[in-house]
Amino acid sequence: MTNKVSITPLWMQNADMPPPSSQPLPSRVDVLVIGAGYTGLSAARETAQAGRSTLVLDAGEMGAGCSSRNGGQVAYSIKPSFHTLKAKFGADSAFGICREGLDAVAYLRSLATEIDCDWREDGCFFGAHTARHYRQMARDAENQPRGLEQRISVVSKADQHSEIASDFYHGGCVYHDDASVDPTRLLLALLGRARDGGARVMDRCPVGAINPTRDGFEALTPRGVVHARQVLLATNGYSGPLSPWHRRRVIPIGSYQIATEPLGADRVRALIPRGRNIVDSRRVVVYFRPSADGERIIFGGRAALAEKDPLACEPRLRRMLARIFPELKSVRASHAWVGWVAYTFDTLPHLGQHDGMYYCMGYCGQGVPLAPYFGRRIGQQMLGLKEGRTALDGLPFPSRPYYHGKPWFLAPSVFAYRLLDAVGF
Ligand SMILES: Cc1cc2nc3c(=O)[nH]c(=O)nc-3n(C[C@H](O)[C@H](O)[C@H](O)COP(=O)(O)OP(=O)(O)OC[C@H]3O[C@@H](n4cnc5c(N)ncnc54)[C@H](O)[C@@H]3O)c2cc1C
Repeated sequence: MTNKVSITPLWMQNADMPPPSSQPLPSRVDVLVIGAGYTGLSAARETAQAGRSTLVLDAGEMGAGCSSRNGGQVAYSIKPSFHTLKAKFGADSAFGICREGLDAVAYLRSLATEIDCDWREDGCFFGAHTARHYRQMARDAENQPRGLEQRISVVSKADQHSEIASDFYHGGCVYHDDASVDPTRLLLALLGRARDGGARVMDRCPVGAINPTRDGFEALTPRGVVHARQVLLATNGYSGPLSPWHRRRVIPIGSYQIATEPLGADRVRALIPRGRNIVDSRRVVVYFRPSADGERIIFGGRAALAEKDPLACEPRLRRMLARIFPELKSVRASHAWVGWVAYTFDTLPHLGQHDGMYYCMGYCGQGVPLAPYFGRRIGQQMLGLKEGRTALDGLPFPSRPYYHGKPWFLAPSVFAYRLLDAVGF
């Protein structure tokens, strides 16, 4: 029997996507936002609502980027630990940066009370890949920096079946404040808010070049030229040749996901009894959760050394899932898709201004809470508001010699990380 796998994200299949935009391109605006994902739409809402004529352009159809194809998991998302940041920037800055991560989740939580994004605060089980990881997790949970505490419970291997019907992990931790959303509903809600605020949002209109002018910038597109006083680059993992400076600073990495065929809600609940998000402590991390209707498992991770099409990765993701749940060995996937996340060399998000152009990007695969939050902040910065200030302002945005946007080091790095994961380091 052939199994036709759709490469459209599961969330998109019944989403009420807007028709392609057909209105003429304005020749002049106050603010041009490039990229209509969570970042760009959140920024546009701020500037439009403040009375600045705001245009958002996206190269693809609405939701072409990560903002319609992610896993919908919401967690505290600043990757470097407080101690790592403290050694680098000092205690005050480290504290401020970590607080931004907590504030981002709090912002989305409060926004979710006003919009329809299927917010579910079920928490997350963080599985320990080795006994050593488990001991470290337990120590970290005990010694959270003051003022940065999250509600965490440690779960021993003996007790972990209350979280996951698998012996794959060596225990783990539950992050009670973690949540999930429907990625596409969040995107459409942010689109609605941007439009309600007065922004014009047009899809299928790639910006091919941006040139400085006497009073701002001109953006060249196939539909014509737009002049803008301010420009925001909100292109994250899809940052192409438009700005070589940014391209040298973000590393686009494919993240792959599958949705299993419907398994039945009882079966899924038996595997993930509390319906939480699940991630693990491997370097090459996997993440999964039940679908909103409880019938399927949505499973994601880095499936290949080099980038591949999602259909080629689908069998590999199914094998990865079956290592955790051997009884799912013969289960099929109905959907398999990919999107490009943006890593940075210091694993921090970055926002600010370069050569007069604003930017906000680099969420290292965790932009569901970070992108709406920092998008809003950069919008406020464009308005000159003090509320827009963040603890990340002014941090150097590092690049590496010989890096120009093609991550030649990715395959060897993933290979090395997999080896370290395999030996349990
Ligand atoms: C498979 C997958 C799973 C993920 N899971 C999670 C998760 O569970 N939790 C989490 O926190 N994060 C997750 N993420 C990451 C998260 O989705 C992103 O960090 C977030 O959506 C970034 O939003 P954004 O608006 O900055 O970028 P995007 O949504 O990627 O938008 C950028 C847009 O810029 C446009 N663009 C690029 N160049 C141009 C141009 N020249 N002209 C016009 N437009 C242009 C693109 O078409 C694109 O639509 C996941 C990502 C993927 C791919």
